[in-house]
Amino acid sequence: MQELVIKNLHANVEGKEILKGVDLTIKSGEVHAIMGPNGTGKSTLAAIVMGHPKYTVTEGSITLNGTEILDMEVDKRAQAGLFLGMQYPSEIAGITNSDFIRAAINSTSETKESLIKYIRRLDAAIGDLKMDSSMTSRYLNEGFSGGEKKRNEILQLKMLKPKFAILDEIDSGLDIDALTIVGKNLTEEMNERNDELGLLLITHYQRLLDHIKPTHVHVMLDGRIVTTGGDEIVERLEVEGYDRYKEEHGITDESETRVSIGNCATSLGVNGNGTNK
Ligand code: ADP
Ligand code: MG
Repeated sequence: MQELVIKNLHANVEGKEILKGVDLTIKSGEVHAIMGPNGTGKSTLAAIVMGHPKYTVTEGSITLNGTEILDMEVDKRAQAGLFLGMQYPSEIAGITNSDFIRAAINSTSETKESLIKYIRRLDAAIGDLKMDSSMTSRYLNEGFSGGEKKRNEILQLKMLKPKFAILDEIDSGLDIDALTIVGKNLTEEMNERNDELGLLLITHYQRLLDHIKPTHVHVMLDGRIVTTGGDEIVERLEVEGYDRYKEEHGITDESETRVSIGNCATSLGVNGNGTNK
């Protein structure tokens, strides 16, 4: 059994405090969902767990099976078994998807996988995700649609087999069919590797969580996790939005409210069309 423990995490970006004491423990076999309005620090949390140099941790700890990871470089964290499916995956011209994934596997695993075995696994994973087989020979994410980029993050997860995967808004950009496929693949991955994999899903919407059942649901507001529970929280959010949680916790951040209205992304009761734009 593996354990990722985040304790009292405080972090700044460019002098502004974004995370204000995050506590979160994820064990293998668990699927955690973090929901929260735009700008509350969800992507910041994901980036900090993975080791993005832009952020400064001012207090707290993140341990993986008891070992502090905050002083590890990104590649060491990946070798230790952490994986991030990004909200906005980068396009990298000149490196094919297949070469990228193989290089990532070779630099994170101790044993070398033969080319034949790798290709066989890649073909199977591409098939599972109902991706076009040409996606492996194209440059990484270059010209991929939003949905293809997100599916490609799941392809990497399936190939890399991390211990803990954080998926940041993996559902944005996916149409209903793609969402079903991604949810099914994640559920299968959890079933197959239950003792070896824990998931942290960052999402705005119930629809992803209809396809991959969370064991724990957290609401994040203003740089903190303010509530933790089960499925009932998701349903409550779909109906009531975040206002009640904000009131309960005395959060009246004007800028946050402006962002929410501008993007029509966080007021779930109002938007309801499943888009993130
Ligand atoms: P979420 O993923 O919950 O929508 P983010 O973690 O992306 O939120 O952002 C949290 C806050 O941090 C936002 O207010 C955002 O504007 C701010 N932020 C992120 N990156 C920077 C940066 N480079 N400089 C200043 N503020 C930043
Ligand atoms: Mg985000």
